[in-house]
Amino acid sequence: MVDETRVHSARRYNYWLGGKDNFAVDRESGDLIAANFPTIRVTAVENRGFLRRAVEFLAGEAGIRQFLDVGTGLPTADNTHEVAQRLAPDSRIVYVDNDPMVLVHARALLTSTPEGRTAYLEADLREPGRILADDTLRDVLDLDQPVAVMLIAVLHFVRETEVAVSIVRTLLDALPSGSYVVISNATGDFADPETKARFDALMAAGKLDAFVRTADEVRELVDGLEILEPGVVPVSDWRADGESQPRPKPSEVAVYGVVARKP
Ligand code: SAH
Repeated sequence: MVDETRVHSARRYNYWLGGKDNFAVDRESGDLIAANFPTIRVTAVENRGFLRRAVEFLAGEAGIRQFLDVGTGLPTADNTHEVAQRLAPDSRIVYVDNDPMVLVHARALLTSTPEGRTAYLEADLREPGRILADDTLRDVLDLDQPVAVMLIAVLHFVRETEVAVSIVRTLLDALPSGSYVVISNATGDFADPETKARFDALMAAGKLDAFVRTADEVRELVDGLEILEPGVVPVSDWRADGESQPRPKPSEVAVYGVVARKP
């Protein structure tokens, strides 16, 4: 059911990106966060830029042809399959989200090239075993071949780092050596004390649903995997030499990104 009275992170993110697939509750929540963190739209755009550069690296240099994109969000410009299939038309992508609103718009994610494939499944990140066992997923992805798992701006909705760690581990355990994981997660590491205090207050009032992680906590998420250069950095600084300069400040972005490879 699409609930117009409850804030949905997918619709609020769509609002920050300038999209139209959002309701009044989402815009109110988005504006409240923007009032406390005025560069949130920069954050959203930079997070999408990270997704694009990471997929370009994976489909290009890394030779990856299979993607599992969990926490897909509402379709926007440069969805994972579009970026991957531009470089490698035979890429296969499975999208996963638990928001029925994303399902409503999923048609825009199913515009695969004839050589490749895309599929959408509605499932919860907190049930990685169910995702991996899904018939649609098994039909599209060959789990004996490397897969890149995309967890972009979604793990911060899982509060406990141990739970997030076990989700990443369960997903990667099912995949062969040479698979990758791409993660972005909100952080408070660059926030000044006033911003931190405002965010703590919003969290205490139940107005915030994203849990920040430190760089060390993000490294914990990929423990046992090889972290690629340049490591755990603000998403805006991950292999961003080709982007417009100067890059936004880490404090304006406040989201870490990392790409890691299963040895
Ligand atoms: N990955 C996209 C969208 C991020 S918005 C991007 O970075 O651009 C976060 C998305 O995660 C939303 O679409 C929301 O519905 C989804 N999400 C949040 N919690 C989830 C969960 N437990 N299981 C699956 N998807 C979830």
